[in-house]
Amino acid sequence: MSLKSDIPEIPTIRPPSEWRSLLVRLTRGCEWDRCRFCGIYPHLGEPGFTKRSVAEIKHDIDLLKQIHPDAETAFFGDADPLLVGIEAFTEVARYVRHVLPIQRLTCYARASTLWKLKGDKIKLLSDAGLNRVHIGLESGDPETLRYHRKGHSPKLVKETAAWLKEAGIEISFYVLLGLGGRDHWRRHIHKTAQLINETEPEFVRIRRLWLYEGDPHFSGPESPLLGEIRNGLFNPQTPEGSVQELKMLIEELNNLSTFLVCDHENNYVHVSGVVKENREQMLATIDEFLALPETKREVHYLAVGSHI
Ligand code: SF4
Repeated sequence: MSLKSDIPEIPTIRPPSEWRSLLVRLTRGCEWDRCRFCGIYPHLGEPGFTKRSVAEIKHDIDLLKQIHPDAETAFFGDADPLLVGIEAFTEVARYVRHVLPIQRLTCYARASTLWKLKGDKIKLLSDAGLNRVHIGLESGDPETLRYHRKGHSPKLVKETAAWLKEAGIEISFYVLLGLGGRDHWRRHIHKTAQLINETEPEFVRIRRLWLYEGDPHFSGPESPLLGEIRNGLFNPQTPEGSVQELKMLIEELNNLSTFLVCDHENNYVHVSGVVKENREQMLATIDEFLALPETKREVHYLAVGSHI
């Protein structure tokens, strides 16, 4: 996009919790783009990956400032904006904080990209004003992660989380129910709870696996995992199974200060709370749902949409 544009580019997607934030695009698409369950950027018409220049991004911030002069939160996208480079990222972070009264600055980040930065460079991110990273953990099970080509391991995530904590940057993990399929769901959840217990992130955000099929609104390709399912190589989780996964996950977490939340409309059951304070309440809500007559539960599963 030309520097002369008077319309800022905005990230393709953002976390629901950033709905009020100033949305700033540092990169376009996802460079990795290999996760079997994903394919979201190509699906939404962003098949490649490009970095934007600092001048372009600052120009967008200037435009956004005119629209939202009192913005107090900002979010950097697309999938892995740190790939713009540490110098560019910190320059833009300082700039947005300089020109606007930003209190909270967050971004999406791949754990493997953060891991490559190591502790000293992660500290630079904090010094530049980054408060929180939204990381797609997806699973804590190495086999599930490998199968889905996530590109990180529990060991890498643990090291990265330690550096983030040391730098004072909050961690927001996304966990995908259903990622182990029907055959490996217990292992997926058990190992995920274990990794969350070991890292104690500030947030755990629950998502349910759903796959993009043909859509009249978008022309992009479907999720790669759909081919695996058609070939009998992945046995998808049932709706009820994903509710059982949520229950098991909450049961297996230690008394953490982590805030767990199902903050996406695709979730079949919505619970939220600080694990150490609200565990029983969250489990009671799930049990209440599971105690409904089967026909009611089935109607509910069919009524819950599958949306980006
Ligand atoms: S899950 Fe994240 S890293 Fe994986 S392909 Fe999708 S956007 Fe890229």
